[in-house]
Amino acid sequence: MPTKILPEKSEITVIGGGIVGVTIAHELARRGEEVTVIEKSFIGSGSTFRCGTGIRQQFGDEANVRVMKRSVELWKRYSEDYGFPFEQTGYLFLLYDDEEVEAFRRNIAIQNRFGVPTRLITPEEAKEIVPLLDISEVVAASWNPTDGKASPFHSTAAFALHAEEFGAKLVEYTEVKDFIVENGEIKGLKTSRGTIKTGIVINATNAWAKLVNAMAGIRTKIPIEPYKHQAVITQPVKKGSVKPMVISFRYGHAYLTQTSHGGIIGGVGHEEGPTYDLSPTYEFMREVSYYFTRIIPALRELLILRTWAGYYAKTPDSNPAIGKIEELSDYYIAAGFSGHGFMMAPAVAEMVADLITKGKTDLPVDFYDPYRFERGELRGKALQMG
Ligand SMILES: Cc1cc2nc3c(=O)[nH]c(=O)nc-3n(C[C@H](O)[C@H](O)[C@H](O)COP(=O)(O)OP(=O)(O)OC[C@H]3O[C@@H](n4cnc5c(N)ncnc54)[C@H](O)[C@@H]3O)c2cc1C
Repeated sequence: MPTKILPEKSEITVIGGGIVGVTIAHELARRGEEVTVIEKSFIGSGSTFRCGTGIRQQFGDEANVRVMKRSVELWKRYSEDYGFPFEQTGYLFLLYDDEEVEAFRRNIAIQNRFGVPTRLITPEEAKEIVPLLDISEVVAASWNPTDGKASPFHSTAAFALHAEEFGAKLVEYTEVKDFIVENGEIKGLKTSRGTIKTGIVINATNAWAKLVNAMAGIRTKIPIEPYKHQAVITQPVKKGSVKPMVISFRYGHAYLTQTSHGGIIGGVGHEEGPTYDLSPTYEFMREVSYYFTRIIPALRELLILRTWAGYYAKTPDSNPAIGKIEELSDYYIAAGFSGHGFMMAPAVAEMVADLITKGKTDLPVDFYDPYRFERGELRGKALQMG
């Protein structure tokens, strides 16, 4: 179980106990490194426990496709090893006109080149996968059966538990307040529960990353801003009613699927911010009800049980900043996931652990170079859901 007691020292310290911080600690501990996670509230309390459960490889660029292919391999392996649910029930993008079809054809070609078996299917085939769909306006769909979903609660808890078994320390209800730096080297961190001596620090605070960068005195421009995104869950319905994640850009950038408890979970593109406010809004309720019932009319019969909000920590190109910050030794960042950090976490953990333990990685981490903003080299905008 996570502890409130701060160790006196740790070789490596991860700030932030979301899925990203926890999987990084898990991967480092597995490799025999001494690592501590410091979390200001409880494990998963940031965006992680508020997310939409989706895990997809359907991106439009080589780096994200390769990273997500690796991530899905790791999701599969760890869900089997640790016994948490990860279901490969696919992602189904509904397409409504030639322009959308053309854009998805290009994405599918890239995905196929790197071994992701997405294909364009007919509206009738889409309806076979989700019989409740209204396909009257749908002209085609992009379908990858190897995408899926996982419970954020079960998976984060499983990674946390096994990280501890490998010797990692997870410290909850402890906030990092400042860095202790001498001659450009990290010596320790000041926290709300005392000081920890440490040499290597990873900023895995996502929506709060800019605050931690400021504490570390980082001058490099790494623009990550918190935006409010909301989600909804309905009363449970018959298992298997909506197996894949269903996406409709036409209808409000909506995404929806069924959780293992049977409720329909999802959200729309409704975005507010930058803000740290998290109060759910009536406007979201109205939009989500309208768009969801355009995609699946039968959802009209369902009661909405709950809505809530969380952060998308957004960068200008919707891709995270992952890598070493050279101004300070040894400081790393893995933040700014722009609404798709849950799915990326296992592969991100591998990349960050590779950088720390080997100085390099086979995965295309340069794509997420934290210095690209300052150099004005934004990447093509990553396909963002919601
Ligand atoms: C409505 C919604 C739906 C989403 N749907 C999906 C989806 O379907 N698939 C997907 O992949 N992603 C989805 N996301 C995005 C996903 O939730 C995030 O990208 C992911 O959870 C980021 O994980 P993280 O560990 O980087 O951040 P977080 O989970 O936010 O963890 C960061 C942690 O840092 C802690 N922290 C901050 N400052 C300090 C400090 N000074 N000291 C100590 N601790 C600190 C915070 O308390 C927090 O727990 C969704 C997000 C939202 C809001």
